[in-house]
Amino acid sequence: MNIHEFQAKQLLARYGVAVPLEIPAQNIAEVRAAVEKITAAGSTKVVVKSQIHAGGRGKGTFQTGFQGGVKVAATVDEAVAFAEQMLGQVLVTRQTGAEGRRVQTLLIASGAKIKREFYLAVLLDRATSRPLVMASTEGGMDIEEVATRTPEKIFKEWIDPATGIMPFQARKIAAALGLGGCDAPSQKGPGDEASPAHSATGASQPRKGDLFHAATKFITGVFNTWWECDASLVEINPMCVVELPDGKETVMALDAKISLDDNGLYRHADLQAMRDLNEEAPLEIEAGKFNLNYIKLDGNIACLVNGAGLAMATMDIIQHFGGRPANFLDVGGGASKEQVTAAFKIILQDPNVKGILVNIFGGIMDCNVIATGIVAAVKETGLKLPLVVRLEGNNVIAGKKTLAESGLTLITGDSMADAAQKVVQAVGK
Ligand code: ADP
Ligand code: MG
Repeated sequence: MNIHEFQAKQLLARYGVAVPLEIPAQNIAEVRAAVEKITAAGSTKVVVKSQIHAGGRGKGTFQTGFQGGVKVAATVDEAVAFAEQMLGQVLVTRQTGAEGRRVQTLLIASGAKIKREFYLAVLLDRATSRPLVMASTEGGMDIEEVATRTPEKIFKEWIDPATGIMPFQARKIAAALGLGGCDAPSQKGPGDEASPAHSATGASQPRKGDLFHAATKFITGVFNTWWECDASLVEINPMCVVELPDGKETVMALDAKISLDDNGLYRHADLQAMRDLNEEAPLEIEAGKFNLNYIKLDGNIACLVNGAGLAMATMDIIQHFGGRPANFLDVGGGASKEQVTAAFKIILQDPNVKGILVNIFGGIMDCNVIATGIVAAVKETGLKLPLVVRLEGNNVIAGKKTLAESGLTLITGDSMADAAQKVVQAVGK
């Protein structure tokens, strides 16, 4: 499950990660109030940020032609004018696909004075079965591009899950970003370790040690957020060195993306509440209600399969014979008649679907239950599209008999290859 930037930053703040003062807003009155509050706190600029579950917003374009899903404003009126262009409109970025995403929430953030931008992410490295912290001085850029063009600019630190991030590791990462080092001894008098550094002229000087400390606290906090929330990805792009109004520098997260591991969600009622159904495909939500794993794709051959592995193999074989799958659909190991009917209804709501392939291997599943489900579903939905069924395994003879005696015009496949070829052929016609 993905969450919005503003929610991600609320979580990060819980674990000590510094974020700008920022307030979410869903209508113009809320935008105005948020801008006034942030300005009253001393900000001369605010940033109006579209909240959608996709990156690349800054360089995105609204379907109206309005450029940019992240805009800096100097006055309340300017911020409101931007908000009016964004709220309710569809934003297209390099991550949304051509259909874009409708902006229903904005984040009004205090405008930070950026000195340097970095990239920082925590993810699971499946090769080592360990959490991995990735950091780069190439912040604000597309990290995939950095990884292909200049892989040496990505620093990696693997974390032992038994201990979590160790202080020396946070220091190592901060140093790799050029944030390491201490103050030159000449800047400090003896015994004034705790007082802010001042030069001979009395002007405030940013202390390297303070920045280093802020960076290690930041990195530790980002890792702890990943760990404690059961996240699969926490990505801060950009993580910034910013100049505060008093001239001191510190480290802040100006953008944040968090993907949560669905398998860990049951442990976090507060995180479940962050789910935004507006960001999810309606058919996938409907499928979730029946415990079906459905993912819409852009082909025209719908598949109804039991087991994720078989579903993948079915998609592959459709592709192999020149067809294109319209979805991934796993009805699970022991699907009921109700689930099969629900699955058919979901498949048929996709207007691209021109044919259906049912591929069932009855291990736990009784093929006759599936066959009964298919017959009921076809009658209930008045199916007109070509339907190819391949059944194998537990109680298959009874299942085939049910299909044969149903009086329905369906095509039977003897093997996976046979069934796939038949459905590709039927759709081709
Ligand atoms: P996206 O990655 O989706 O384009 P970001 O939140 O990273 O969105 O915003 C794009 C750019 O806008 C950032 O790289 C940063 O340079 C700038 N930016 C974002 N938030 C702020 C802020 N609060 N203050 C100043 N600049 C910001
Ligand atoms: Mg960003």
